[in-house]
Amino acid sequence: MQVIFKKIKVKCKTRIPIICIAILLNVSIVKAQQNTTKPVLLSKGFWLKGDLHVHSRHSTESSNNSIQKIINFSKSVKMDYVCITDHDNHVDGDVEHHTWADPEFKSDSLLLLYGAEWTTTRGHGNVFSDKPYHHKRLFDVRDERDVNIGKVKKSLNIHLSANHPSGKDNFGFSYDLVQSIEVWNSSVWPKNANAIMIWDDMLSSGRMMTGRGGSDAHHGVPTGAEKPGANTYQAEYNYVGTPTTWVFAKEKNLTAIVDALTHGKVSVSSNPFAPRVEFYADANEDGKFELMMGDNAISKGKPVKFLVQLIGNTLPDADYTITIIKNGKKLNTYHAKGEIPTVQFEDTPETRGRSYYRVTVEGVNTPYPQVPKSMALSENMVALSNPIYFNFDPKF
Ligand SMILES: [Zn+2]
Ligand SMILES: [Zn+2]
Repeated sequence: MQVIFKKIKVKCKTRIPIICIAILLNVSIVKAQQNTTKPVLLSKGFWLKGDLHVHSRHSTESSNNSIQKIINFSKSVKMDYVCITDHDNHVDGDVEHHTWADPEFKSDSLLLLYGAEWTTTRGHGNVFSDKPYHHKRLFDVRDERDVNIGKVKKSLNIHLSANHPSGKDNFGFSYDLVQSIEVWNSSVWPKNANAIMIWDDMLSSGRMMTGRGGSDAHHGVPTGAEKPGANTYQAEYNYVGTPTTWVFAKEKNLTAIVDALTHGKVSVSSNPFAPRVEFYADANEDGKFELMMGDNAISKGKPVKFLVQLIGNTLPDADYTITIIKNGKKLNTYHAKGEIPTVQFEDTPETRGRSYYRVTVEGVNTPYPQVPKSMALSENMVALSNPIYFNFDPKF
């Protein structure tokens, strides 16, 4: 896919030569707090951060990006997990004997998901798995009808995700095949606007589909005897963590990470040091925020209390703009600051039909010195949440 870093175009090779490029206020707002509140503690789990779309040397167009380098960098910026997603067509679908068989594909602390970028004529998708699977079977059916692809995908028991859904190499298959969608690809935030639109369309249609990030980084900083290449400059603009996907996992292991991804316990931040947005709701008026992102409740026709918190490295005195989106439309905008910028509001989800609420956070971005030019490309986009759902059909 094409990534544009400022005015510079980057090409990435795929099986066929492809240029890879890179309102309305309403209802029942009761209060907007801007004070400092303690973070909500839900059921037991861990917030883990990582990158779900990175290319190593096993993607032929990458440069200076060994698996060891990706792992070392990820550890240095305190990532918990990474999924190296090399183009499967560059190894004739045999990811098992390339990326995963690389002696460097191991770590004592960083959790390494098994995956690949399913690189097809009809666009790209990422696979995420907690264990090795026979990727070539998915590669081999890439040009078949969606119904056949769906059968293979199901038998492999994998999480499939739509990559860079708008623009060149967009995911051109049925969204019934995927559990998640890459709503934030690379540090270049503005080009994701259409991806967000597609996401809202899919959510509005009744799909509880997780929005996630992915840097799609291909190029590392040369070390040792390595020589800089034509694309080396990109590492300063876009690398592991731009953006960073946070998952709320029940345990610190690969299975729990994929499970959190599948169930929408996810938010995305512009970089590993930017604050994380958390989004909760109290739907049964007991004062406890028992719902979190990804959860689905029945609307009783009564007001629901919602809580948004920004956790982590919030900048002192920074004023964050927190926008609430309900069913694809802006419900309201708040401003929040402090150590834990917090917003509370109330709204009544309809008893008939579905509702979903999600959050975006804009403001001054937290510096990411390891990828110093990424901040400018992310502009004011700091973080986005996944939805809290009402009256969705879990069996959709
Ligand atoms: Zn791609
Ligand atoms: Zn990619």
